[in-house]
Amino acid sequence: MQARFIDLHTHTSASDGSDSPTELIRKAAALRLAAVAITDHDTLAGLEEAEAAGKKYSLEVIRGCELSVESVYGEVHLLGLWIPHQCEALQQTLETLRNHRTTRNQRIVEKLQEQGVTISYEEVLSEACGESVGRPHIAAVLFRKGVVESISEAFTRFLGEKAPAYVPRKLLKPDEGVRLLAGTGAVVSLAHPMLIRCPSSWFDELIPFLRASGLQAIEAYHSEHSARDERFCVALADRYGLALTGGSDYHGTAKPRVTLGRGKGGLRVTMAFLEALKARFPQPF
Ligand code: AMP
Ligand code: ZN
Ligand code: FE
Ligand code: FE
Repeated sequence: MQARFIDLHTHTSASDGSDSPTELIRKAAALRLAAVAITDHDTLAGLEEAEAAGKKYSLEVIRGCELSVESVYGEVHLLGLWIPHQCEALQQTLETLRNHRTTRNQRIVEKLQEQGVTISYEEVLSEACGESVGRPHIAAVLFRKGVVESISEAFTRFLGEKAPAYVPRKLLKPDEGVRLLAGTGAVVSLAHPMLIRCPSSWFDELIPFLRASGLQAIEAYHSEHSARDERFCVALADRYGLALTGGSDYHGTAKPRVTLGRGKGGLRVTMAFLEALKARFPQPF
């Protein structure tokens, strides 16, 4: 039988992806993916629509989200997979984080205006379809208005960490983030570890620390990971007894080079990974 593929890291228009949850699931079904996790930043708002679309297109939808936490080496991202419907504490914290986003986004717009860029906060809000608004929406406004020629130029010239309109966002501490997700019963995976700009030896501090708070997996397979990165992550997971996850980090047109299920072309996460996760973390999935 032909191997079926899955994608455990995707973004919809509920945060900074460009496809609606229904559209994303429809595309995943057309690509014959067997399962997709929706992992929007700081919101669960796309999950119900995605689940309904999953039923319609006979595709397994995993309820997820992505949280950013702070570290001495910048942002560290966490994925929560199989988030239950009842998760009051998580919902409350996500709402607080989204409120911080609003204040931060308004400050970014002010900084852009100070630099002579004509942009309003209302334009940013109308660019976003969902409740979790971020720099990619601001970048899209700058692109649409012809201020920059690409989204990536918007980040290099204005919005990136070293750029003049950068405003940091309030983030949870790493152990707080892991506990928050793990406390719902979700499986918590360290997202795209190789995108953290840290010495590789730091993982031997970070991972045992996060594991003590409830980290259960590492996202070894990701669009930005090389084969060597994958091997490094698999070795880390083995060393600390963690499971493996994998996904594209699809954002639709917001990251045009990353495709659903295939990442930049070479990504292939099989059903075997999903079966291994389910065997290891038995839940009423
Ligand atoms: P925010 O959550 O508002 O801080 O924005 C972070 C998001 O911006 C990330 O999830 C990425 O999807 C996107 N992003 C960050 N850096 C870049 C970049 N250089 N080019 C394009 N997108 C980026
Ligand atoms: Zn994103
Ligand atoms: Fe991420
Ligand atoms: Fe992501």
